Amino acid sequence: MEQTQSHLQRFGLHTPPGTFVQALEALRTYLGLDEDLVRAAVRAWDKTAAARERARSVAFVNQAKVTSAFIEERVADFHLAETTGYGYDDAGRETLDKVYARVFGTEAALVRPQMVSGTHSIAAALFGALRPGGALISACGRPYDTLCAVIGIGDEPFPGSLAEWAVRYLEVPLGPDGYPDESGVVEAARDEAISAAAAGRPGPVVFIQRSRGYSSRPSLAVERIGRLIRNLKQEVPEAVVVVDNCYGEFVETAEPSEVGADLVAGSLIKNPGGGLAPTGGYVLGKAALVERAAAHLTAPGIGGEAGPSLGVARLLFQGLFLAPHVVGQAVEGSIFASALLGDLGFRVSPRYDEPRTDLILAVELGSPDRVVAFCQGIQAASPVGSMHLPVPAPMPGYADQVIMAAGTFVQGASIELSADAAVREPYTVYVQGGLTVSHVIMGILSAVQRMRA
Ligand SMILES: *Cc1c(COP(=O)(O)O)cnc(C)c1O
Repeated sequence: MEQTQSHLQRFGLHTPPGTFVQALEALRTYLGLDEDLVRAAVRAWDKTAAARERARSVAFVNQAKVTSAFIEERVADFHLAETTGYGYDDAGRETLDKVYARVFGTEAALVRPQMVSGTHSIAAALFGALRPGGALISACGRPYDTLCAVIGIGDEPFPGSLAEWAVRYLEVPLGPDGYPDESGVVEAARDEAISAAAAGRPGPVVFIQRSRGYSSRPSLAVERIGRLIRNLKQEVPEAVVVVDNCYGEFVETAEPSEVGADLVAGSLIKNPGGGLAPTGGYVLGKAALVERAAAHLTAPGIGGEAGPSLGVARLLFQGLFLAPHVVGQAVEGSIFASALLGDLGFRVSPRYDEPRTDLILAVELGSPDRVVAFCQGIQAASPVGSMHLPVPAPMPGYADQVIMAAGTFVQGASIELSADAAVREPYTVYVQGGLTVSHVIMGILSAVQRMRA
């Protein structure tokens, strides 16, 4: 009881708060917030009510989708057990694959703790879909940084890249509005398909990145991805579409795999791991393509038939079960952050009332000092490593110094609240994730207060 009272007093309260707004105001004492900042936060919370309600209803639909898949696949206690060695006849692994396939509406899925990251799973998908002499066409301009090495873009020789396997790379630049140039993509695929057929080469693979990643372009709504795929397949039915789904899972009620994508890949330490998956990735889609991705991931002849769950089967199942809710919390937090930071005069993308299709919020802070203070404020409010002070540092592959705040339970897990920035004009920080909306609020308020110091 004494403990309870002293905690309440630290938050500036004498009795437990009756409303969320009172709780928010109470944070003022604990975080040492300016009074006007608390008022701005209360306004941001109020004005985002409808947008946050939409995020909760998306989570509701996705929770039903995920739960029904568990029920239909008869997930049971023994699926959660530890398996070792080859992992032959690992019922947990096989059932998790089936649950993912059901949730994402595909013929097959491969969900593995042996995939070390999103890049690894996307690489498995690309090596599965492409063959020597074939062409990879990026529909969204330059792909995410780490994928440039997979593809072999640039002057550096990347050992093992698709380029070394004689896969040609074509890039259709984004249109002036930052969205894919749809007719340009269809045209590039048609030209490639015609010359490939004449030369006896494999047909084109078109690569779509759903999330903005860490770039200034907007993220792609699933509906827009569906339209692009429909137009493409009408003209070039043999084109294979691979989607990088990182940061997108469960932000909408449909997934790219439900609107015509042939192969979709992502990371388990982002959305679908629900904050519990300690590592892993997934590839899902058409059975024949998933099988080829599996052959690349393990070995031809082994494919998806081996690979022990080790001790993490429960975390992968339970994480998927929690993912719709956790993603909903992160989106709600991001909507609040967008409204608050927008009201404080910073340029934000997306705005709080724009439809969401990924977890990332870009905030133009306008000065290097603010970028550093913001990231330090996020770190200081983190559950793990709050005492560390992030500072800008050089990073391989980046021309400018980079700063990252990530006080996460799982190393680098960006489903947990994190912020990153390259320290360069216009000093944009990317904020994403958050396991609970209350924690996102704490983190953002801590970040804003520190920028004022
Ligand atoms: C995170 C991410 C990836 C993969 O990154 P990893 O760090 O390898 O998991 C790929 N594409 C996008 C758009 C991403 O956000």
